[in-house]
Parts: sequence; structure tokens; C-alpha cells
Amino acid sequence: MEKTICENCGELEGSCACRRRFCSDFSGDEKLVFIDGHDDALLGVAEVEGDTRVVYDHGAVIRRLMRRDGMDLEGAEEFFNCNIEGCNVSPSAPIFLRPC
Ligand SMILES: [Zn+2]
Repeated sequence: MEKTICENCGELEGSCACRRRFCSDFSGDEKLVFIDGHDDALLGVAEVEGDTRVVYDHGAVIRRLMRRDGMDLEGAEEFFNCNIEGCNVSPSAPIFLRPC
């Protein structure tokens, strides 16, 4: 996968905090729940029943687990279900988008 440079700050996209900053700007004082290490899978924010929630690309999270942590697809899915999606049950938990 080719590396993209963030047009805001010139850092490597995905490792800079611009996307998080954008989400935080949008939500104002509301506290957002992010998952660490997956900023490059961050798509934006969505409002659900009055709560602002951060939206991630599910596939990008899985790909990153496979690439960065050397997991196979099954392992990455399992890790995701148990440790990423499973531990976030609050109303402000991130949303993981599965594009059709
Ligand atoms: Zn940036």
C-alpha cells in the first residue's frame, strides 16, 4: 500500500492526528471514543441518537491488523471482535462501517 502524506501537516497520513482533530472539531465539547493505532481507518463522525460517534472502516482495521501485527484474516477478525469492537459497548463507542 502506498504511503500518503497528510496535506494538512505533512506527516505520514494515518500517523498524524489531523483526522482526530477534525472529528473533535466537529463534535465540540462532546468526548469522542477513538481506537488507538487505527487512525488511518478513521472515516469521520456520525450522530446516533444524539451521541456523536467516530466511524471507522472495518476492512481497513482488519487489513492493518494483518499487515502490522502479522495476523491472518481469521485471527484479525477474532482479535477485532474480542478486543476492538467487543470492548466498546458504550453509547459513544466507535462505529465500524462494512461497505457493501
Ligand atoms: Zn496531518
